[in-house]
Amino acid sequence: MQISCENLSISYEGKTVIDNLSFCVNKGDYLCIVGENGSGKSTLIKGLLSLKKASSGKIFVDSKAKIGYLPQKTPTQKDFPASVWEVVLSGTLNTKKFMPFYSRAQKKKAKDCLEKLNILDLKKACYRNLSGGQQQRVFLARALCAAEDLLLLDEPVNGLDPVAAQEFYELIKNINKSGTTIIMVTHDISHALKYGTHILHLSENDMFFGTKEEYLNSDLCKNFGGGKKL
Ligand code: ADP
Repeated sequence: MQISCENLSISYEGKTVIDNLSFCVNKGDYLCIVGENGSGKSTLIKGLLSLKKASSGKIFVDSKAKIGYLPQKTPTQKDFPASVWEVVLSGTLNTKKFMPFYSRAQKKKAKDCLEKLNILDLKKACYRNLSGGQQQRVFLARALCAAEDLLLLDEPVNGLDPVAAQEFYELIKNINKSGTTIIMVTHDISHALKYGTHILHLSENDMFFGTKEEYLNSDLCKNFGGGKKL
């Protein structure tokens, strides 16, 4: 098991946002986290990254599992003044220790990640001149550089056109097939049902965690009319 939450609750200033949540994620799973705005999806991601403490219950993250994180896109990120190579290479910083330069292994890792995502030809391009879809690929390559065991993605196709979004989903599918566990917050229930192996549905008064097949038979899914956008 790479991640498990047991009776987890998380609050902001006394207001409970996540209430008594239990679920687990095993190596190779593709977990989609769905739910309305404000249902606590981003808060849960912060909890998994130890950026927000549990008010009760437990979060277990396997210390051997290295986690790469692709946050929600912000307007400042769009104008990042660096080359694609610099952005992706900086993903290896967590393994850099105190060396003043990047090692050959780190450069190889960055190149491998660019190749894996089909953007090696963009290596020298300036990040801010790229299309939205290319920019998101670059940040995905950066997250992969940081860690290949598990990727946490928070609404990664927000703002992408349908073609770029579909290409991005296919990339994630292939990364998952090569053994990386995926946890993705998504608004797109049809994507969750197509690619996810497991679904975590957060809702103000209810929640569901289980396999995709179990979810399809759940009341929560039926009430949301599985297949339509949340
Ligand atoms: P989602 O990602 O599902 O849209 P969030 O986790 O962002 O939901 O937010 C869940 C609830 O927590 C919302 O009611 C939101 O207003 C509240 N919330 C989120 N961040 C904070 C914060 N930093 N301080 C106080 N309340 C917050």
